[in-house]
Amino acid sequence: MSLKNGVMMQYFHWYLPADGSLWNQVAEKAEELAKIGITSLWLPPAYKGTGGGMDVGYGVYDLFDLGEFDQKGSVRTKYGTKDEYIRAIQVAKKAGISIYADVVFNHKMGADETEEAEAIALSMDDRNQPIQDYQTIKAWTHFTFPGRKGQYSSLEWHWWHFDAIDYNAYNQGENAIYLFKGKSFDRNVDLEKGNFDYLMGCDLDMQNSEVQGELKYWGEWHDDTTHVDGFRFDAAKHVSADFFPEWLEHMRQYAKRDLYAVGEYWSYEVDALHHFITVTNGQVDLFDVPLHQNFHIASKSGKDYNLSQIFDNTLAKEQPTLAVTFVDNHDSQPLQSLESIVEAWFKPLAYALILLRQAGYPCIFYADYYGANYKDRGKDGNEYEIFIDSHQWLLDQFLFVRQTYAYGAQYDYFDHPNTVGWTRLGDDEHPGGMAVLLSNGEDGRKLMEVGHPNRTYIDITDHVDETITTDDRGWAEFRCNGGSVSVWVWIEQVAG
Ligand code: CA
Repeated sequence: MSLKNGVMMQYFHWYLPADGSLWNQVAEKAEELAKIGITSLWLPPAYKGTGGGMDVGYGVYDLFDLGEFDQKGSVRTKYGTKDEYIRAIQVAKKAGISIYADVVFNHKMGADETEEAEAIALSMDDRNQPIQDYQTIKAWTHFTFPGRKGQYSSLEWHWWHFDAIDYNAYNQGENAIYLFKGKSFDRNVDLEKGNFDYLMGCDLDMQNSEVQGELKYWGEWHDDTTHVDGFRFDAAKHVSADFFPEWLEHMRQYAKRDLYAVGEYWSYEVDALHHFITVTNGQVDLFDVPLHQNFHIASKSGKDYNLSQIFDNTLAKEQPTLAVTFVDNHDSQPLQSLESIVEAWFKPLAYALILLRQAGYPCIFYADYYGANYKDRGKDGNEYEIFIDSHQWLLDQFLFVRQTYAYGAQYDYFDHPNTVGWTRLGDDEHPGGMAVLLSNGEDGRKLMEVGHPNRTYIDITDHVDETITTDDRGWAEFRCNGGSVSVWVWIEQVAG
């Protein structure tokens, strides 16, 4: 649960320059971010990945190396050193911003040595389907962390800490998942591909007591070291769901304070999300992936999309108190693995839908705030240059509106395929009232009630340059342009 009208910001995107500057940027910007209405930052994985100073963070090599040891060709991570990380957290917390750490429990990569082990080869597409019998494989599964030399933890990881791997040095051409002898896949995982426990790298055996113990011990060490306020669990659909509440309970008892948690369960099926919520007893919020998908489809469909159904089959509608709503992220951005970008014209509409309504804990994407420009190869092998627009000015307006007006009862007018709107009536401390109208087709008009009679409203987005005054009953016909959004707020409070 977030605090009232809290807003999270995902403070990175996939293609940030690998110059080790992000932690210092967090420290530098923290006060400004707090001022505009950001209440929490989700920071990228802070530990050393197999790509050293270039790794985005998800190729986890050593959970205990927060940019402190000369490993994988670098002391610092992509984002800076351990000292810079800890300072950034301190500065942000002092500014009133909570910090959520990105935690990857699913896999490890970049082992230091190979080992031989017995394993059975399974089909990539059906993880219950053997394609060869048990055989001796040679795989990169032994993690010795030579640069850390046993500091903080003496555990070396071996093949028996893992369920499976996708590489065999004795048969390098083979496209298979190798399940180690005596191991079985986790049961409480997504059922895509028969069983989606295995995603990449060395897949952690969450039933192994040494693995469980190490992850809990790491959590204690991490809390002592960083004092973060919560966690974002990576790849939650690939990890036994019951481990998350167990680990969180351990952490909350150890830290003696509440710790926030949100999971990345990348599924467009809202029922799969409901299942995870059931298994985890509602202890872990989830990113509203189905809502992101609706935004993506709406942005590609123009006026053919029925906006009155934009919240259908989403967490925001069906489980609003556990939904972290977002528009795009580091996986959905162009040229990334789950590419499903929300087109630029629709971004203002989508952000209004997550920032200005009651449901959900909204998360703003770094690249949507600051913009982004990068080049990478697409799935077709060709190089592309990508520009993501900065929506900073508009997002600042929305954040101001969220803090100032987005309170009290919400009246919905999702009654037309192309033009939908809602009002917020305000409360005793926030008496302004507001109205939002958006259209994916022609210019829109809609009669809506804001609850305040004879009051004059202006469009804070500057999209419509006129005033609208409510009648004696607190109603008015509000307006927006085609393919646009207008946010109508009480003129006296803007001026004040
Ligand atoms: Ca797994």
